[in-house]
Amino acid sequence: TSIFANVPQAPPDPILSLTALYRSDPSPKKVSLGVGAYRTSEGKPYVLPVVRTVEQQIAADPAEYLPQDGLSEFNRLSARLILGSDSPALRDARCVTVQALSGTGALRVGFTFIARFMGPRQVYVSKQTWSNHRNVVPHSGLPPTKDYSYFDSTTGGVNIDAMLQDLRAAPPGSVILLHGCAHNPTGADPTNQDWQRILEVVKTNRLIPFFDNAYQGFASGNLDTDAWSTRLFVNSGIDVIVAQSYAKNMGMYGQRVGALNFVCATPEPVNAIRTQLKATIRAMYSSPPVHGARVAAQILGDEKLFREWEEELLKMSGRIKEMRVRLRDALIANGAQGKWDHIVSQIGMFSYTGLTSQQVSFMQEKYHIYMTSNGRISMAGLTESNVEYVANAMKDAVHSVVK
Ligand code: PMP
Repeated sequence: TSIFANVPQAPPDPILSLTALYRSDPSPKKVSLGVGAYRTSEGKPYVLPVVRTVEQQIAADPAEYLPQDGLSEFNRLSARLILGSDSPALRDARCVTVQALSGTGALRVGFTFIARFMGPRQVYVSKQTWSNHRNVVPHSGLPPTKDYSYFDSTTGGVNIDAMLQDLRAAPPGSVILLHGCAHNPTGADPTNQDWQRILEVVKTNRLIPFFDNAYQGFASGNLDTDAWSTRLFVNSGIDVIVAQSYAKNMGMYGQRVGALNFVCATPEPVNAIRTQLKATIRAMYSSPPVHGARVAAQILGDEKLFREWEEELLKMSGRIKEMRVRLRDALIANGAQGKWDHIVSQIGMFSYTGLTSQQVSFMQEKYHIYMTSNGRISMAGLTESNVEYVANAMKDAVHSVVK
């Protein structure tokens, strides 16, 4: 018998197990609205032409080891992308940036650092959040997360008063995980005015903001708009931690390209933080992969490639916005009971439809349409050819499976 015989099976990941179910479904009618990856109007994965161009240019480059903190040019340009080229924090050299294994890796290194040098410390996440946040935080050596109120199911937007109340009640020094834009799973973002109120509470209550910005440029189609909340906090002069991902906005999901930024209120801690982040990375995986960071650095550093990329962001986010309108209109046209405007007012990859887990199961069994049990759909999974089918299935679900 194996020494490992008593290892219990891990609970299935709610998002990844859905993909497996979808793959094994033989129905030709099946629709995948689960995982958050962009699909073209033909329902196909997409390689950005600008990414392909650069990949061909660098194909013969040697793949020597990078330093623990990654490609320095990538780090410099990545910080500039999220903080803005006129950022006072960059001008004053108050920002440490390290390359990370996409957004998840940035979160993981960031929370491991917090656990080592500032722990134990309570981390608060929005009540509805990307399910992996609740894994990464305790796996990094911190206590399990606590929730702050977020979503308002009556409006499909943010319940800002409840959120602020919970942030006021959090013990000073707590870390507050915030989605910089395109909140996952709800698609509901605070307004600019809401963000100002959140900042006031964060400052008054001396909370530590940790921005997870996994969708910059992909949400609104504009890189600056999607960085607005992050920059508001950074430019207020407080310490801010920021995770970045190039999975969605450059379509480099599997290349694992991301960055972690510690933006400090003053320049003094910067050197120590850099050395400790490098030491943390050294012990976890030694150094990050080189290929995707090279691609991103080329695009970020070249004016022409950068403009091409901006065009791509407009196209991808535009298709998603169009699908929001198409789905809402189809639900109104087919007479599905309920209000559907939130599908259009929500932003980013996802929409929180309001379907119950029973209605989700009904759609999966009867129509082979797959979404997470919280009623979240990936807008990128919708196309001209399936949007009506999905809308009719949603109508059947809300009419047949009463809440
Ligand atoms: N944060 C949020 C809110 C996300 O939705 C995602 C992607 N699903 C990530 C982080 C990280 O993704 P990745 O590690 O692929 O960059």
